[in-house]
Amino acid sequence: MRKANIRTLSGVAIVTSLTKPHPCPGNCIYCPDEIKMPKSYLATEPAAARALALKFDPYRQMQKRIEMLARSGHPTDKIEYIVKGGTWNAYPLKYQYWFVLESFKACNNLSRKKKTSTTQQYNNITIEKLKKQLKIEQNYNDKHAKHKIIGLTLETRPDAITAKTIYDMRIQGCTRIELGLQAPDDKILKLIRRGHTVEQFKKAILLLRQTGFKVDLHFMPDLPGTTANHDVEMYKLLFSDPGFKPDMVKIYPCTVIKTAKLYNWYKSGKYKPYSDKKLFEALIEIKTNTPRYCRISRLIRDIPTTDIKAGNLVTNLREELKKEMDKRGLKCRCLRCREVGHSTTTLQHNNTSATHLFVDEYETVGGDEYFISFEDKKRQTVFGFLRLRLPNFDNSADLDNLYKLMPEIKDCAFIRELHVYGQLVGIGKQDNKATQHKGMGKKLVSRAEKIAKKAGFTKIAVISGVGVRNYYRKLGYKKQGTYMVKKI
Ligand SMILES: [Zn+2]
Repeated sequence: MRKANIRTLSGVAIVTSLTKPHPCPGNCIYCPDEIKMPKSYLATEPAAARALALKFDPYRQMQKRIEMLARSGHPTDKIEYIVKGGTWNAYPLKYQYWFVLESFKACNNLSRKKKTSTTQQYNNITIEKLKKQLKIEQNYNDKHAKHKIIGLTLETRPDAITAKTIYDMRIQGCTRIELGLQAPDDKILKLIRRGHTVEQFKKAILLLRQTGFKVDLHFMPDLPGTTANHDVEMYKLLFSDPGFKPDMVKIYPCTVIKTAKLYNWYKSGKYKPYSDKKLFEALIEIKTNTPRYCRISRLIRDIPTTDIKAGNLVTNLREELKKEMDKRGLKCRCLRCREVGHSTTTLQHNNTSATHLFVDEYETVGGDEYFISFEDKKRQTVFGFLRLRLPNFDNSADLDNLYKLMPEIKDCAFIRELHVYGQLVGIGKQDNKATQHKGMGKKLVSRAEKIAKKAGFTKIAVISGVGVRNYYRKLGYKKQGTYMVKKI
């Protein structure tokens, strides 16, 4: 059976779990509201339907998904774990720790002789005890498990990001945050009752970056109070204003869902989405204005069209856009479109000797970012990349609390992300045709260390997923707090 499925092309198996329904502090007018589902999710969305059937049990969700992937022939030893369900930090801390603990247990128990028992009732367990158990499971995952969690993504709101929530999410093993902004325009945020300001978003992304996190920003065109032109302008602002510059974006054009307040606005004529044609043209502009370091990770949401009362109904919008852009000779330079495997040059380029090392530098609030990548000469295909951050500590007033909680990262440069693409190969297995595990990662890390050293840094910290700590140990890194740190 061929393994060249889109879900594993970027080198890892993706497992998504949903948290149980829980009130969200937000009150956004476009957000669907179903009692049996976590806020903002519909029972008919495929991933959500699976979670509902398993009663949102993290243990069963994880094991079911791994079994499913394994049955269809996917390697499952490297797992990128994504937890969805709205605002993570709005859940009680005990629930958060329990959810992550059960997820790690589920992974570990699949290859463990003496299995740890699952915990259904966590209310009587103290947070300290949950943390202790989690540490045991994480260490097992790091050192022994066959299925390693190499990254954990949590979804939250900018107003929930504080030194304390960042600290807890690090202990939980989180490496990437999905952060809703929707529109970098306070007038629109107010109109849609988003409940936070643009400034709050900027503060959140700064704190996250100064702690090495990757940030996936949610952008929502076609909201009330905007126009197609304004959406394009706002999108451009995301990459010209040093207060934003996200690593990834999810673009979800606003749709009218029956259970959302926006449906009443739509019925009464207070809101009308702009035409399909205008949206299509705006998205072409948006794609052509995305820089190389950013990945458009999603374009439109997986909502069954029967649930959409108004707004985009084209489910293969991404393909339609590509077709039209090809016709006009336009290209999306975003990371996703250039990943080896997604781009059309895959086969010719499996020979990695054709690669060149590029270093793109860009300025953000609080520090400089370096996007270091192996690409073909024409920069059409990316084989691997690394995100290096060199923080400047001039405006560190907000960061004092962070360094009190996580002293290990003070004065550190950060490796925020390292990714080498290729067909997914089992850890330790050799496959000459695949690009992974060919020393590309090592070369990227070495270049990052050189750049940091030259800029005067003496330490470098990696926000490493639990399951990749060992990779960094081999490169001379040691675990300090929740990071892998090396003196350079
Ligand atoms: Zn793209």
